[in-house]
Amino acid sequence: MPKCKLCSAQSVIWLRDQNRGLCQKHFEEYFLSRVKRAISKYKMLKKSEKVVVGLSGGKDSLVTAWSLKKLGYNVEGVFIDLGFKHYSEASFKAVENFCKRFNIPFERVDMKNKFGVTVPELLSANRRKSCSLCGSVKRYVLNKIALEKNAILATGHHLSDEISQLIGNFLNLQHEYLWRQSPILPEEEGMARKIKPLCLLREEEIEKIAEILQIQPVREKCPFSKGATTFKNRKLAKEIENIFPGASYRLYTQFLEKKEEIFKPHEVELKRCKICGYKTILDICNFCRWKMKWEEKSGKLKVKSHNI
Ligand SMILES: [Zn+2]
Ligand SMILES: [Zn+2]
Repeated sequence: MPKCKLCSAQSVIWLRDQNRGLCQKHFEEYFLSRVKRAISKYKMLKKSEKVVVGLSGGKDSLVTAWSLKKLGYNVEGVFIDLGFKHYSEASFKAVENFCKRFNIPFERVDMKNKFGVTVPELLSANRRKSCSLCGSVKRYVLNKIALEKNAILATGHHLSDEISQLIGNFLNLQHEYLWRQSPILPEEEGMARKIKPLCLLREEEIEKIAEILQIQPVREKCPFSKGATTFKNRKLAKEIENIFPGASYRLYTQFLEKKEEIFKPHEVELKRCKICGYKTILDICNFCRWKMKWEEKSGKLKVKSHNI
């Protein structure tokens, strides 16, 4: 590895798109400046606002919380115990160690206590791909918690995630999704503002900063994970960056600038869930439907009568 472009120290990373290497100190500065740029460019967050990060134990969310803390934001971690027993415990340990080390307040939320049902229970009663159900449930729960705390919700999505999602949306020409893909979703009634502070940084850069900071993500794999369906899009996103260094950043920032005029939105009627008020295209949101299914199957639903 050559020397740092900004000082004479040994560099820890080679940024192909910028044709320069950076030492630990300067890479950390560069990393935080990109987060800062994303926050101000897309008007994500003010210093006076509270921001919550859902900490799964994975590197992306941990690095998100670290960056926000380092930039002086009022950040709080939330760990959701989805009910996976061993896996949840291992994830919690990683989150707890991290938060203590970086002095970030955090809360552990138990799905069973707070929502009366766990993810394995929902999976047992609903025919749904495990990762998609789990992802939906996490979004649902984190939204509720952010609202309760009167906070903004930050997620660990990075540039490589965004490009891979963009590829998926392009390949299927999903206008509606393309138009809605954004590093910030403004707050609305019943919905907290959602932001992606790492959206201008590639996965490699996040892996590198986690390595430098010795952030230790959970090693165990989710017991229900059967390999992400987005795997091919991710591979493609990586390949694009390999062939054209810097293309991800240019494509993403240009896309965000132009998407309004290119992908004009159709009028979609978004309703509110009749049970809980969450935004949905149906009368009852997925979460409430899945929960009802589970209650029905486990004989909890009072209205279900066997006498008729
Ligand atoms: Zn340096
Ligand atoms: Zn609902």
